[in-house]
Amino acid sequence: MSSILKGIAASNGIAIAKAYRLVEPDLNFEKKSVENAEEEVARFQNAISTSKSELEAIRDKAREDLGEDKAQIFEAHLLVLSDPELLTPIEDKVKTESVNAEFALKETADMFVNMFESMDNEYMKERAADIRDVTKRVLSHLLGVQIANPSMVTEEVIVIAEDLTPSDTAQLNRQFVKGFTTDIGGRTSHSAIMARSMEIPAVVGTKSITSSIENGDVVIVDGLNGEVHINPTPEVIEKYKKEHARYEEQKAKWAKLVNEPTVSKDGQHVELAANIGTPKDLEGVRNNGGEGVGLYRTEFLYMGRDELPTEEEQYEAYKAVLEGMEGKPVVVRTLDIGGDKELPYLNLPKEMNPFLGYRAIRLCLDEQDIFRTQLRALLKASPYGNLKIMFPMISNLQEFREAKAILEEEKKALQENGIDVADKIEVGIMVEIPSTAVMADVFAKEVDFFSIGTNDLIQYTMAADRMNERVSYLYQPYNPAILRLVKMVIDAAHKEGKWAGMCGEMAGDEIAVPILLGLGLDEFSMSATSILRARSQIHRLNKSDMKKLAEEVLQLDTNDEVIKAVEKAVSND
Ligand code: PEP
Ligand code: MG
Repeated sequence: MSSILKGIAASNGIAIAKAYRLVEPDLNFEKKSVENAEEEVARFQNAISTSKSELEAIRDKAREDLGEDKAQIFEAHLLVLSDPELLTPIEDKVKTESVNAEFALKETADMFVNMFESMDNEYMKERAADIRDVTKRVLSHLLGVQIANPSMVTEEVIVIAEDLTPSDTAQLNRQFVKGFTTDIGGRTSHSAIMARSMEIPAVVGTKSITSSIENGDVVIVDGLNGEVHINPTPEVIEKYKKEHARYEEQKAKWAKLVNEPTVSKDGQHVELAANIGTPKDLEGVRNNGGEGVGLYRTEFLYMGRDELPTEEEQYEAYKAVLEGMEGKPVVVRTLDIGGDKELPYLNLPKEMNPFLGYRAIRLCLDEQDIFRTQLRALLKASPYGNLKIMFPMISNLQEFREAKAILEEEKKALQENGIDVADKIEVGIMVEIPSTAVMADVFAKEVDFFSIGTNDLIQYTMAADRMNERVSYLYQPYNPAILRLVKMVIDAAHKEGKWAGMCGEMAGDEIAVPILLGLGLDEFSMSATSILRARSQIHRLNKSDMKKLAEEVLQLDTNDEVIKAVEKAVSND
């Protein structure tokens, strides 16, 4: 039967393919006694050998696609599956206690996991993690349920998941993953942001997609309207194929603007820059006519691995981006870990409120080795382009001063060692915490620029978690409270002769762009795939009219009133 689920439109475009569930399998079972222990042992051995063949295939694929490092993880799992110290006690337990293999496996594995985890030894802790993973796989075969292996997908699919972490998203294979949809998340969850830069249509926050879809169901992800169609009728499929073709046509028109400057109808220039996560994203920036990089989220360099990147590795990445942008501005944000971006290898304690916790600049000022390594790598790369350094999550002036002093210390030390560092590197901050927006006039005297991080600024101002679909109605970019803060920041910058940009998702939003243009925002930084649409929109707007519109909407009462006012003004345009 066909059905429709509503969610949050997280990444534009339309995708039609079969569902692929990326969900935790149900591995619950009961303890049972068995009559024929020999048969039960044989069933267990069978599950072991199926798990082995599966892991060998995954290992070989990982070696091919991701390199030896990743393949080694599965090699370690294979070793566990051949270890008599684990397997013999399981088989013995089945035989002596006449219990089912699931129970014998879980009991024995848990005993080893607890033992290894309690040791004060990283190597043994990793072995515990290996045993836990392998146990799941063998259990899945005993129970006849499937564990998802997204790396092994060989046909076009729509990924169905409860949630996707940024590192899950980074590992999606663009060749086969045509779209995704999740139970939870919001438009500014990092998986949604990444989907936009990967041009994968996505609908998040459907609340119940994982319980509504089976593997193999036909799914349409309508990332333009935030709808997911499950087993649609042939008529609906036809309608969406046409819609898809229309969208592609529209994109082809925008593509003609790739080398055009971004000027309003009345001739005012603004800069349209791109947000990137890795040097690989530069291709998208070039293809979409980005005039700079307004936000390089360096934390992605630290993710999906087992240890911190070295200074040399970081230097290479920063240099590649600076060179790749050929002298255009590149704003590199220092490590902004925390919230939905985790680094398991730092072993940080779990927190009640990770978005309000020990993260970003707070962690960097505390763990200065990590911070200083990154700053040195940046400074060494600085002669290769137009580098600007930006600190994330600044909540008070003290933090900025401290961070800047550390940067100065590192610069001086490098120069004393005869290492070349660019003469002038602008140093700015993200304005994403309301206290900083309110104090923008004071900050403006000391920083070289502001970049408004509305993804966080909205969640902190409205007290509405950006990841939580249940409060997404409160996540209101056009609420006059947000617009007034944005204005305060832009005005404060201009008063001191500094520039103000925005790198939150709002910078590329069709309703927000006219207001931001009117408020005098200098730089709009967004997913590369939004740039051409925004450029086409700005070409059609008069900045002087938008100034009036901005003044008007700042006096309105609600988010919805602002939307209506903008729609009216722009349709009259
Ligand atoms: C923001 O908060 O607006 C921002 C750009 O940073 P991030 O989305 O990485 O938190
Ligand atoms: Mg942020």
